[in-house]
Amino acid sequence: MTFNMVEHALTLEDQIIAWRRDFHQHPELGFKEFRTAGVVARELNAMGVEVTTGVGKTGVVGIIGDGGPVVGIRADMDALPILEANQVEYASKHDGVMHACGHDAHTAILLGVARMLVAMPDRPKGQIRLLFQPCEETEGEDGYSGAWHMIKDGALDGVDKVIALHVASDMPAGKIAINPGHISAAADNFFGTVIGRATHGAHPDQGVDPIFIAAQVINALQGVISRQRDPIHPAVVTVGRINGGTAENIIPDEVTMSGTIRSYDRKVREKLWADVEGAFALARAFGGDYRFHLKKGCPSTHNDPKVAALIHDTAVDLFGADRLFERLPSLGGEDFSLMAERAPGAMFMLGAKRDEINRPHHNPLFDLNEAAFKDGAALLAETALRILQGS
Ligand SMILES: [Zn+2]
Ligand SMILES: [Zn+2]
Repeated sequence: MTFNMVEHALTLEDQIIAWRRDFHQHPELGFKEFRTAGVVARELNAMGVEVTTGVGKTGVVGIIGDGGPVVGIRADMDALPILEANQVEYASKHDGVMHACGHDAHTAILLGVARMLVAMPDRPKGQIRLLFQPCEETEGEDGYSGAWHMIKDGALDGVDKVIALHVASDMPAGKIAINPGHISAAADNFFGTVIGRATHGAHPDQGVDPIFIAAQVINALQGVISRQRDPIHPAVVTVGRINGGTAENIIPDEVTMSGTIRSYDRKVREKLWADVEGAFALARAFGGDYRFHLKKGCPSTHNDPKVAALIHDTAVDLFGADRLFERLPSLGGEDFSLMAERAPGAMFMLGAKRDEINRPHHNPLFDLNEAAFKDGAALLAETALRILQGS
């Protein structure tokens, strides 16, 4: 290798960290990444990269090289509605908004990748498409997240392979986890109402008690997972919100409940939709009724086995086999799934545990070990080159 990607990434380390700290100080919520997108476009322009802004609302696409093949590299840019609790010099300056999932790092790392690829002599033929995506964490008013909007605007058109990383605050810094197959879950939400008939708390027989029925529905929902789902396929149903009643001695008219349904397998997913509604139908057995609404989210992310193997082998070549980390897939949601449906793709996890304090994702104490970023950049860049070379 004449061009050593790991060494080159090391020369960019300070710049990547500076970008990340700038994004961290100026976090923006989904589809409001105006400043972030502006910085990304400015930096790409300064590198001589062809830039398109306003892709998928607030996304940015950068193009390096031309012709085929085309490899996409995705970074999400949005932050979360969380008040940062860290006392660090680069803490969020926007009260109540925080990069608590590491998307600031993803954006900075992809800028680092762009720097490396632009500077590289004898870059193989083909196109590298830098996909700076808005709004991964939630959806816009139309119910669609950033990846969906980027795809709708053509950002994935002609892309042959797509890759991405996600930092992990609980994994040792610099470790890399890459699995073939499902790595994140389909995440669907349900909204149910158990309808009863209000009456005096002392005379339940004169009405229909929706609180009692709701208790049966919650039990039945757990039965859906333990009795109605093929146990070989992971899935979980969580009731996250329940509301009903106004006073100790009044049986109310209705109870509302909402929650999330997570699964990998498409058939299991579709059966869960029906079975979860079936649990609400119990209300009819007790003389009540129900309303049910399902809000389908993004599908599960399926890592293409060949792309995952390429990331694995590239990581071993760059860093040695002892950098690989065994990590089970999760039932979290990730809208990279939509991109990986459009082209064979894979996402790896980059360990970035800062210290011994527990700093989970989506937590006010979330933070990262910045020393890991350069390695993420090197691995993305080298994998992209190997895809162009036809590996
Ligand atoms: Zn997140
Ligand atoms: Zn995330």
